[in-house]
Amino acid sequence: LGGSISRALQQMSNATIIDEKVLNDCLNEITRALLQADVQFKLVRDMQTNIKKIVNLDDLAAGHNKRRIIQQAIFNELCKMLDPGKPSFTPKKGKTSIVMFVGLQGSGKTTTCTKYAYYHQKKGWKPALVCADTFRAGAFDQLKQNATKAKIPFYGRGIGKLLGACKNARALLLEIGYGNAGKSYMESDPVKIAAEGVERFKKENCDLIIVDTSGRHKQEAALFEEMRQVSEATKPDLVIFVMDGSIGQAAFDQAQAFKKIVSVGAVIVTKMDGHAKGGGALSAVAATKSPVIFLGTGEHMDEFEVFDVKPFVSRLLGMGDWSGFMDKIHEVVPMDQQPELMQKLSEGHFTLRIMYEQFQNILKMGPMGQVLSMLPGFSAELMPKGHEKESQAKVKRYMTMMDSMTNEELDSTNPKLMNESRIMRIARGSGRQVRDVMEMLEEYKRLAKIWGKMKGLKIPKGGDMSAL
Ligand code: GDP
Ligand code: MG
Repeated sequence: LGGSISRALQQMSNATIIDEKVLNDCLNEITRALLQADVQFKLVRDMQTNIKKIVNLDDLAAGHNKRRIIQQAIFNELCKMLDPGKPSFTPKKGKTSIVMFVGLQGSGKTTTCTKYAYYHQKKGWKPALVCADTFRAGAFDQLKQNATKAKIPFYGRGIGKLLGACKNARALLLEIGYGNAGKSYMESDPVKIAAEGVERFKKENCDLIIVDTSGRHKQEAALFEEMRQVSEATKPDLVIFVMDGSIGQAAFDQAQAFKKIVSVGAVIVTKMDGHAKGGGALSAVAATKSPVIFLGTGEHMDEFEVFDVKPFVSRLLGMGDWSGFMDKIHEVVPMDQQPELMQKLSEGHFTLRIMYEQFQNILKMGPMGQVLSMLPGFSAELMPKGHEKESQAKVKRYMTMMDSMTNEELDSTNPKLMNESRIMRIARGSGRQVRDVMEMLEEYKRLAKIWGKMKGLKIPKGGDMSAL
C-alpha cells in the first residue's frame, strides 16, 4: 500500500503540468490502495470527493510542494473520518462503571477484556471481570485463566462436559416448547450470570465492572437477542465493539448490526500486530459513530495501546509511524545534533541510559523533549494531556530509581540482567518498593519496543524529510 501511494505521489511530482487529470490519476491510485487496506468503498469515494474540493489546483500549479499538499489533504481527511466528533464515555476511577464488550467470536473480546482490566488496574483501579459467554465451552476457563494471571477478580460459571450436554438438551427442550423446563435445571443463562456478576462486584466496590459476552450463536438473531438482554440486565455505561483489524470490508455491516441492538459507544481494533492495516476501523467508526479507543497489538496482556489517530493514519497510508516525528526532528533539533540522534535512532538499541537522557530532555522540554513527546508511546501513555504534573512526578520517580543502577545495568540491552536481587537492591537504594522498580522496567520495555521499530531507519542525506 505504502509503495503504491508513494508511487502515485511520486508520479505526480514528476509531472510538469498539474491539471485535473493528474490529480484524478493520483486519487485513483490512492483509492485502489485504500481499498486494499480494507477501507469501505463508500468511505473512499466520499474522501475522494472531499479531497477534490479541498485541493486547490491553482495552488498546485503555482509550484508549491505538490506532493506535500495532496499528502496532507489525504492525511487530514482520513484523520477526520476517524473522529466521530464526540469522545466516548470515559469511566472514572473510584466511581462504578459497567463496560460491556461485544463482537463476533474470535474478534478478541475475552483477550481484550483482560487487557482493558489490566491496563486500568496498573493505574490503581479496582476492575473485575464477568464472563457472560456461556455459549462457547471453555470461554469461562479462558477468562478465568487470564484474570488469575493478572490477579483480577472474576465471576462466571464453567460448563463442564456434563453441563455442556445438558445445554444441548436445553436447546432441544426449547425447540420442542419446553423451554422453561429446560431452564429450571440449567445454570448457564448468560443474562442471569451477567446480572449476578455485576451485582456482586458493585457490592465489592469495584470501579470498573467488565462484562465479556459470547460471540456467536447458531443463528445471528439469537446472538443479538442475547446481547440485548445482557445489556438490559447489566445496564452498561459503555458498550465496546471489538473488531479484528483484518476483517476487511465486512467491518461496516458487522459494526452496524451490533449498533442496532446495543448502544455501542467505542471501538477497539485487535490484531494490529499482524499485517492488517486496519482500514476496517474507519468503517466501524462510520457505522457506530463512536471513536476507536484502544488497539490490540499482540496476544499478551500488555500488548495494548491507547489509540492515537495520527500514527494510525500514517500506517494506513503506509507512511510509517514516523513521518510526523521526523518532520518534527527536522524542525526543532539543531542541525549539528541531528546526525547523532539519527544514528541512535537507526541503531535501535534502547538502553536504560538512553531512557534516562530522554527523561532529562522531557523535563527540560528542550528541543528533544518536544520531539519525544510526539512519539506515539510517549505522548499518549507516558504523558497524557491534562496530566502533566503526574507525568513529571512519574518521570522523576523513574529517574531516582535509575540513579541507583550500575553503569552495566544502564548500558545493557539484555533484559535478563535485571534479576530479582538487582531489582531489590535498586528498590532499597532508591527508597522505593520492588513493584515501583518493576513498573519502571515495564515502561522501559514498552519504550524499547517502540524504539525498536525505528531500527534500520533510512535518513535521507541533506535532511529532506519530505522524501520519507
Ligand atoms: P473472542 O472469541 O472474541 O473472545 O476472542 P478471543 O479473546 O478468545 O481471541 C481470539 C484469538 O485472537 C486468541 O487466540 C487471541 O490470543 C487472539 N488475539 C486477541 N487479540 C489479539 C491481538 O491483539 N493480537 C494477536 N496477535 N492476537 C490476538
Ligand atoms: Mg471470548
